[in-house]
Amino acid sequence: MSTGFATFTEEHEAFRRTVRQFVERELKPHATAWEEAEAFPRALFGRAAELGLFGLKYEEKYGGTNAGFFFEAVAIEELSKCGSGGVAAGLVGQATIATGPIHLFGTDVQKQKFLTRAIKGEWVGAFGVTEAGAGSDVAGLRTHARREGDGWVLNGSKTYITNGVRADYVIVAAKTDPTRGHKGLSMFLVEKGTPGFIVSKQLKKVGWRASDTAELTFEDCRLPADALLGDEGNGFAQIMGNFQWERLSLALGAIGSAEEILEVAIAFTKGREAFGQSIAKFQVTKHKLADMATELEAARQLTYHALRLHAAGEWALGQTAMAKKYATEMCCKLADMSLQLHGGAGYMMEYDIQRHWRDARLGPIGGGTSEIMNEIIAKQLGL
Ligand SMILES: Cc1cc2nc3c(=O)[nH]c(=O)nc-3n(C[C@H](O)[C@H](O)[C@H](O)COP(=O)(O)OP(=O)(O)OC[C@H]3O[C@@H](n4cnc5c(N)ncnc54)[C@H](O)[C@@H]3O)c2cc1C
Repeated sequence: MSTGFATFTEEHEAFRRTVRQFVERELKPHATAWEEAEAFPRALFGRAAELGLFGLKYEEKYGGTNAGFFFEAVAIEELSKCGSGGVAAGLVGQATIATGPIHLFGTDVQKQKFLTRAIKGEWVGAFGVTEAGAGSDVAGLRTHARREGDGWVLNGSKTYITNGVRADYVIVAAKTDPTRGHKGLSMFLVEKGTPGFIVSKQLKKVGWRASDTAELTFEDCRLPADALLGDEGNGFAQIMGNFQWERLSLALGAIGSAEEILEVAIAFTKGREAFGQSIAKFQVTKHKLADMATELEAARQLTYHALRLHAAGEWALGQTAMAKKYATEMCCKLADMSLQLHGGAGYMMEYDIQRHWRDARLGPIGGGTSEIMNEIIAKQLGL
């Protein structure tokens, strides 16, 4: 079935073939082993960088290609089909949340130092907002940075941080003025090896198992003045600005995964026999598959609509929230329907669908929950 007509050009599709080849040859054959090991090789960051996957929307002077959002959308869709939600999360996270804020708010010196190395895959980056006591409620963060001499002293902790264990730097959100609510938030670039920056734990997860997800602690962590990213007190606006592409990337990842889930369901039902015929021949199965394809197409078009608005420079807050919510929930629904179509096999670890089912569940939680997306949509409705 045709997919992105009027969204992607032949150039995008040629790039899609390149990424697909990388995924098929270098990721898929190892994905199950990496999921079981709950880790993937760091060298993958270097390989993905060689293909230009981390610099698609960044300027050439920092090593990017300035190719734009549509190219990155293609990369995200294809990476999400690699057979491991964790590998996709680690690589896509580097291209999006770990570099986006530096590109948007960093000084030229910060970009030369951090962005250039991240685009080359030399440094792995992470983005640390969430804390044990505050996720959805970003203004409620407790991590704080106080001025001391020329620099800052950072104290607090972060949790659920993707790529956090092996990160060479983490973009950390912290309160710089606890009396000013969301206006008292700022962001900092914290380098690995800074005394007081501790990786306290690697967390075990239901899905996305190959990605490293960390708990981080900052104990009197002294930062230089130029660790501040963007303007002091502007952290909340920066986080919200960065969320737009993160949410779109989660929607795009859900589209890519759901395509695979549908393919898996079709292949399995064609091959499985019951009552003397392939189960794909039962009308109820055909209708389920038709419903799945329809749901996928609806989510795709909503997501591509938000993508086009974002790429055109519009602040598409409501459409992005709708796409993120709808596409990630669609992916969970399709994974569940596909698992049901597998019967008992769907519950066995040897079939891929269980991994899709576990991985998909993160979508409506990460990058802002479905409930928070509804809050945004409701505000757009004037409620
Ligand atoms: C695998 C994984 C990777 C992640 N990677 C990162 C990362 O790299 N960096 C990072 O900073 N964070 C990361 N996160 C954190 C993620 O963004 C948060 O988990 C998410 O935003 C939800 O926050 P929370 O877990 O604190 O849930 P809570 O905010 O405690 O929410 C709990 C429940 O309450 C609901 N709720 C909260 N507020 C409202 C409201 N106003 N109205 C209605 N319902 C509400 C929520 O929707 C949810 O159902 C990751 C999480 C996971 C699981």
